[in-house]
Amino acid sequence: MAKFKIIVTDECIGCGQCVNVCDNYELGSDGYSHPKVEEVDEKGCNEAAADICPVSAIKIEEIDGAKK
Ligand code: SF4
Repeated sequence: MAKFKIIVTDECIGCGQCVNVCDNYELGSDGYSHPKVEEVDEKGCNEAAADICPVSAIKIEEIDGAKK
């Protein structure tokens, strides 16, 4: 079971920096970033994407196994 949920909030300004550092992101036709895979076992490059985002729009939430 996946351990982390990846969320791009509506604070995204579509700057594309997350796309450059992590292949789990793509800019949609709306001009904003979306994660390709929303539930992952490892944070991997999602952490770098969250760090580089200038508006902190990328959230990585631990999934509580008891709630799923
Ligand atoms: S780095 Fe942040 S603001 Fe820029 S496209 Fe990615 S999620 Fe959006």
